[in-house]
Amino acid sequence: MIKVRDLEVKYDKKVALKNINIDINEGEITTIIGPNGCGKSTLLKALSRNLKYSSGSIEIHDKDLKKIKIRELAKSMALLPQAPSVPYDISVKELVSYGRYPFIGFGKRLNRKDYEVIDWALEKCDMKGYKCRKVATLSGGERQRVWIAMALAQEPKILLLDEPTTYLDISHQFEVLELIKEINRKTETTILMVLHDINQAAKYSSDIVILKKAELIGQGAPEKTITSQTMEEVFNLKGKFLENSHYPHFIPEMSYR
Ligand code: ADP
Ligand code: MG
Repeated sequence: MIKVRDLEVKYDKKVALKNINIDINEGEITTIIGPNGCGKSTLLKALSRNLKYSSGSIEIHDKDLKKIKIRELAKSMALLPQAPSVPYDISVKELVSYGRYPFIGFGKRLNRKDYEVIDWALEKCDMKGYKCRKVATLSGGERQRVWIAMALAQEPKILLLDEPTTYLDISHQFEVLELIKEINRKTETTILMVLHDINQAAKYSSDIVILKKAELIGQGAPEKTITSQTMEEVFNLKGKFLENSHYPHFIPEMSYR
């Protein structure tokens, strides 16, 4: 369980998050939604210690995040950033092997277990046949699967994904989301991700976190949080919900921004 209490994050004087209180359930999929610039990436960065917070606290499995060593954290948490840049001239195999770095001692090489995990991660993401390809030559969907494989090679208990479906066409979006769901089910990895598509968020998550202008608007099951009221309040959208759907499926009709 991740507990966030009274979290505040600032960039110089600009407040990017304030009064944030959320609980992320272990072994579940939680998705953060909210308009551009509301603080979604900032929250993932604070949770992964890529950003300092000015006040409040974050606990991961009852431990204060500030007291967890970076190397220890890297063994239990992986972050796939919003727009990761591809290191020049690197192969798929090499990039995925970076995921093992927290586990290998200083000056040591990858061992058999590391190679097994790398192969497993490539297999999971259906990228085994691409091992020797340069990442730069891959399509957007393939590249995204390699990044996820790298995160998986870290064997994280917690996986943070910032807009993992961006730049992908609709079928690759679902492919990546199905992969995330499968990882969650088979390895009981806690997943916290940011998605733009409200309906995909509702379909794939057991919990939704809604942010607007640096503040928390709500947290809970999709049926409780994705409602006409929040669509209006948070996204300035009026619309309808599809009837007889297993999860809230919003059909926007007009924006009154
Ligand atoms: P989101 O991911 O929800 O689109 P972000 O968390 O990236 O939003 O950003 C939240 C706010 O903080 C935005 O107003 C953004 O301009 C600002 N911000 C993000 N990164 C920085 C930075 N490095 N320096 C200053 N302001 C930033
Ligand atoms: Mg963002």
